[in-house]
Amino acid sequence: MISFIDLKKESQEISEEIRAAFRCVQERGWYVLGDELLAFEKDYAQYTGTQFCIGVNSGSDALVLALKAIGISPGDEVILPSHTFVATADAVVRNGAIPVFADIDPETYCIDPNAVASMVTPRTKAIIPVHLYGHPADMDPLIKIADEHNIHLIEDACQAHGSEYRSRKAGSMGIIGCFSFYPGKNLGAYGDAGCIVTSDKKIDEKIRMERNYGQKTKYQHTCIGMNSRMDEIQAAVLRVKLKYLDRWNEKRRRFASLYDDLLAGCSVIRPIEREYARHVYHLYVIRSKKRDILNSYLKKKGIETGIHYPIPVHQQKAYRGRGYYKDLKVTESVSGEVLSLPLHPWMDDEEVRYIAQMIKKCL
Ligand SMILES: *Cc1c(COP(=O)(O)O)cnc(C)c1O
Repeated sequence: MISFIDLKKESQEISEEIRAAFRCVQERGWYVLGDELLAFEKDYAQYTGTQFCIGVNSGSDALVLALKAIGISPGDEVILPSHTFVATADAVVRNGAIPVFADIDPETYCIDPNAVASMVTPRTKAIIPVHLYGHPADMDPLIKIADEHNIHLIEDACQAHGSEYRSRKAGSMGIIGCFSFYPGKNLGAYGDAGCIVTSDKKIDEKIRMERNYGQKTKYQHTCIGMNSRMDEIQAAVLRVKLKYLDRWNEKRRRFASLYDDLLAGCSVIRPIEREYARHVYHLYVIRSKKRDILNSYLKKKGIETGIHYPIPVHQQKAYRGRGYYKDLKVTESVSGEVLSLPLHPWMDDEEVRYIAQMIKKCL
């Protein structure tokens, strides 16, 4: 059986360091908003090339807080892809704003800047490009659109830790970048966690307050906030793992390139890496018209796969009557064809070879 992801192997590789970090937190006896979080925030801001990082409960909360921080209010429109994890769109709706879905680039699966341009209205307040699967969205044309219309760019970098666009780190190009540290992400905590990065001091101050009951000093509540803080245990884990992120991403890239070589000439469409991109392969996603046949064949051969995502957001029941879109042709055809293959730093060449061989055998 080849599993889709193997977090047990990951924890074995770093178990001594993690235990030492746990012990340190425990001995300090301080579990929320302490030294570990401050240290991680400093490390991660530096890693992403931004001024500030604010640790929160999850990637979902990061997105909600980011939109709130730029002053999104009911009736505002936010342009985003429909081919994404639902949390991207939920953040828009939870702020009372209207999700406007734009179609995607058929090769990178990220939002198509031309589609975005055609959806801008005077009510558009923000664009959320999602760096899907670990490949960055095409940011330069999006930055141009945003500048022309005075719109904010909020990056959903929840799948793109360490990914780069023209040598700039994912999360550092928009006014705010949002990350998830859900265990299965390229940088994952031992539970839920997320963060926001920004180089805007005002936004940093605002979100720091928002995540902590709207207070700057204890019992002085300036706004209606929430409780969304990354706890010390998670920050300690992430500080250890951040040191390994580049090495682990490199391993993902190596397995992706092995898949590429082995699947060349086969009828499946392989992922691409645009000249502007450094792909970190959060997921290795192929496309086939015979996706469902291939998927059940691989299952029978003991290979665990995933589909990211089988139903686009605009077709979800929860989104009936919400938001709008014009033409989502690429989104709709891609969701019926994508298949995510096992890819993580703890696999070996033999497993990749076996999977590629089974794909060729089926098709
Ligand atoms: C994982 C993910 C999120 C949500 O992050 P959580 O930490 O699970 O709340 C949002 N957007 C994308 C694209 C994701 O992959």
